[in-house]
Amino acid sequence: MILFTRQQELKNGLTMKFTIVEEYCKGCGYCITICPKNVLKESSHLNSKGYVIPEILNKEECINCKKCELICPEMAITIQKEEIEA
Ligand code: SF4
Ligand code: SF4
Repeated sequence: MILFTRQQELKNGLTMKFTIVEEYCKGCGYCITICPKNVLKESSHLNSKGYVIPEILNKEECINCKKCELICPEMAITIQKEEIEA
């Protein structure tokens, strides 16, 4: 199940879509620790396996570095760039 998707406009007509698949998350917190802009934080929400999953604290600060996506051992995070639909 996809927990949340956030979209924000980037320069040059692209949007960034940030997705966390809740059921993949093991609650390790690596994504929270590595984020240079403190975009992610621990939520108060548990997934069905009992792991505390992250949530987005301030999406406006995200610089699309993809560190969170790369470090996630469960591949729960996906960051995609998409063209803005006209
Ligand atoms: S892409 Fe970079 S700045 Fe954005 S949430 Fe992930 S680690 Fe943080
Ligand atoms: S790095 Fe992946 S598994 Fe660990 S808390 Fe973040 S989303 Fe969950």
